[in-house]
Amino acid sequence: MKISARFCPGKLLLLLLLFSLLTTAPLLASGQAKQPLYYQKISELTAAIEAEIIAIRRDIHAHPELAFQEHRTAALVADYFQKLGLEVRTGIGGTGVLGVLKGGLPGPVLAMRGDMDALAITEETDLPFASREKVLVGGRETGLMHACGHDIHTALLLGVAAVLSRMKSQVPGTILFVAQPAEEWGDGAQKMLQDGVFRDYKPEAIFAFHVDDTLKAGYAHYVPGYAGANCDTFFLSIKSEGGHGADPDQCVDPIVVGSHVVLALQAMISREIDVHDHTVITVGYFHAGTATNIIPEKAELRATVRSYGDEQRTRLKEKITRTIAGICQSHGAPYELDYQFGTPALYNHPELLAAILPTAALVLGGKDRLIEDRPEMGGEDFSYFAREIPGVMLSLGVVPPHLEKTAVHSPTFIADEKAIGIGIRLMSAILMDYARKPSGQRVSGFKK
Ligand SMILES: [Zn+2]
Ligand SMILES: [Zn+2]
Repeated sequence: MKISARFCPGKLLLLLLLFSLLTTAPLLASGQAKQPLYYQKISELTAAIEAEIIAIRRDIHAHPELAFQEHRTAALVADYFQKLGLEVRTGIGGTGVLGVLKGGLPGPVLAMRGDMDALAITEETDLPFASREKVLVGGRETGLMHACGHDIHTALLLGVAAVLSRMKSQVPGTILFVAQPAEEWGDGAQKMLQDGVFRDYKPEAIFAFHVDDTLKAGYAHYVPGYAGANCDTFFLSIKSEGGHGADPDQCVDPIVVGSHVVLALQAMISREIDVHDHTVITVGYFHAGTATNIIPEKAELRATVRSYGDEQRTRLKEKITRTIAGICQSHGAPYELDYQFGTPALYNHPELLAAILPTAALVLGGKDRLIEDRPEMGGEDFSYFAREIPGVMLSLGVVPPHLEKTAVHSPTFIADEKAIGIGIRLMSAILMDYARKPSGQRVSGFKK
């Protein structure tokens, strides 16, 4: 049967209609709505400063500084903000810097946060701007490296401040640019809050980026709700009078007691914790003893405890305290327990996230470039800000084109600098779009 024998104009029209539906539907579905006019301005301004911001990022990368010692970086940030004409406050919570941009239109106060600290890691990349800096940690000399991308986060903060200050007559409200110290120590954000970073201007929403070592530039990960875990710690010391290894009945053996504690805690998770409550207890430190035939006078255990939510962390603390007390008492072992709450779980406000995702899809070029990720049990101290103010952290792909993945906190971590221009455009558009929403369409507080 010849095809031409079945040809008719009606069918051709139907086919054309089907074809156009098939080709345009994914575009519509992938968020290819019309871009607002100021996106063009953001793109032009980003293109104009991209090389300068990349140069600054390389400079910061070559001169990394540890938590609360970010003096050079903070001075660079403050100087850059000043040149942009922002109102600047320095020395907040140590080395933190706040830049305030007052837009030309009425609108809300919003904030963007970037962290500035580096890690005590000896860089092993062959980048021309690789860090050669050294630092003494515990009396030992080690290298210093921006191995978590905080040099990029700081550069993005400067880039977005530069773009929005150059179009400030179109910016609604006030934008705060928060350069934060000591993320890696988990308390820089808390120190800035305690030091009144939002004393004069209280933002109603705060946004941040973290580099993503699993995605290529142009892609981003997001997690609604809990994205990172409570990072709590306990220090346990099990005591004994010590004795001869051949006479174990004459004293408490703190190694045996400590071993029971480790196993009882793992059993507690599997038997006492709701399977839906993500929980990790890792005893990462267990030190005791000096010889095969001596029962030591103490065993030291230290653990990290990960969970989501305030209630869950409080319940876990009770269960861990009770388990340790039970084991130690049953062996007649005196003990000391020091339980500390650390960085709280990072909570991405779901409605705030939902409000900015269409912007992100538009800027990145489609919904398929925005990928929902699973929550992690890692910690991120942006959580302190996001507890006070509805907040969202997006993860920005930085894997270079020639690599499958790269790894933060590794001496060989490298990032695709194409992500810098993308991140500047993305955050500038997020802030502009969100600030332009009428107050009834913006998120107000928490509904937890
Ligand atoms: Zn890190
Ligand atoms: Zn980090």
